[in-house]
Amino acid sequence: MSSMIQEQSTFLLHVSELIRKAAELGFMTSGGELFRTPEQQALHVKNGRSTTMNSQHLKRLAVDLNFFKPDASGEPRLTYGIEDLRPLGTYWESLDPANRWGGNWNTFKDTPHFERREGVGAGASPAASPLQASDVAAPSVATADASVRSAGPVLGQGLLLAQVGFRAANKRDDVESVQRLLNVSAKAGRVQLAEGQLKPDGAFGNKTLDAIMAFQRSVLGEPTPSGLIQPGDACLRSLCEPLADLGMGELLGLAYLAAGDEQIAALAAGLQQTMAARQIDTLLRRAHFLAQVGCESGELRFTQEIASGQAYEGRRDLGNTQAGDGVRFKGRGLIQLTGRANYAEYGRAIGREAEILAQPELVASDKALCTDVAGWYWAKRELNALADRDDLTAITRRVNGGLNGLEERRRLLLRAKALLGA
Ligand SMILES: [Zn+2]
Repeated sequence: MSSMIQEQSTFLLHVSELIRKAAELGFMTSGGELFRTPEQQALHVKNGRSTTMNSQHLKRLAVDLNFFKPDASGEPRLTYGIEDLRPLGTYWESLDPANRWGGNWNTFKDTPHFERREGVGAGASPAASPLQASDVAAPSVATADASVRSAGPVLGQGLLLAQVGFRAANKRDDVESVQRLLNVSAKAGRVQLAEGQLKPDGAFGNKTLDAIMAFQRSVLGEPTPSGLIQPGDACLRSLCEPLADLGMGELLGLAYLAAGDEQIAALAAGLQQTMAARQIDTLLRRAHFLAQVGCESGELRFTQEIASGQAYEGRRDLGNTQAGDGVRFKGRGLIQLTGRANYAEYGRAIGREAEILAQPELVASDKALCTDVAGWYWAKRELNALADRDDLTAITRRVNGGLNGLEERRRLLLRAKALLGA
């Protein structure tokens, strides 16, 4: 894991790219808050400007910026509008899997806020430097990747980076994971929560603490619950138990913390269908599929690559033989289908070749195709066999053509394995 200084420095480099992007889009930008002391943060919480004492501002990993656009008379006008700022938020999140924009939060929207989550890994973003579903056979790697191989099903192992609970580290993503798991147990009737469900906002407060203690009391039978969860402990294992039988929506919500509720709602059924149709049905196959799809789609946030596709112009290995093919057949679908030849082959496979070649954007916009193409590609490259061998490196080579984003894929794989007990 990288040190805090490295995290802070990467964060600021991304901020500089964001400001450049804003200028490109016609905004003027002025600087707002970056570093906050605990005293300042306590004031913000007191007067409602923030909801958490775990703010990334305390770690110099968040910045608030002010964006101005000229109005009709040419006067610069400050804007906080979510739709005005969405292109910047999307750009920010495409720069790194660790980046989050405050306009995408499930609850409290904070549009001028841009943050980085530490420990998420700083691999090149799949969406910003898109991966190719190239037809060229990648060399198969015989040695399985030992570092992510588990001896047997270990529920919850590797899900949390640090302790969650009373006076614990309470890292944001850890807290959200625990909140979502507690909600799953509440839904399954294992534990009664005061307000039915917790708000999965990653902020640790009394409600989350009470819910952990209620779980430890009623499910684990602890008369004096600690209110503390250690990475990989019995409490976490027990919290993960009902997951294997859960709906895809709950699983995706936990596997992909960056995904929005709307994206999960739109894509869960299609993913379930394509996984069933392609025998992605064992714990290992499911975990590997979720890891690759998660990385390729930025955890379901991008159904097509953000770059124009111009870089693929004239790429004969992708079948791009006609002028404009690069842009026309850029990466789309949850596994980034790329190039005329791949679009044609997928179109043929589903009996809609002419339609797919005429309207390639359907592969991103049609939710059924967007998910189906991921399962189709998985089957075509025979990735179930590699998943059975738990071979992350070989699967990544076949999906990506290289090893782009390997660390991010490994992180998502460990997460999926922890949730499924694979
Ligand atoms: Zn902020």
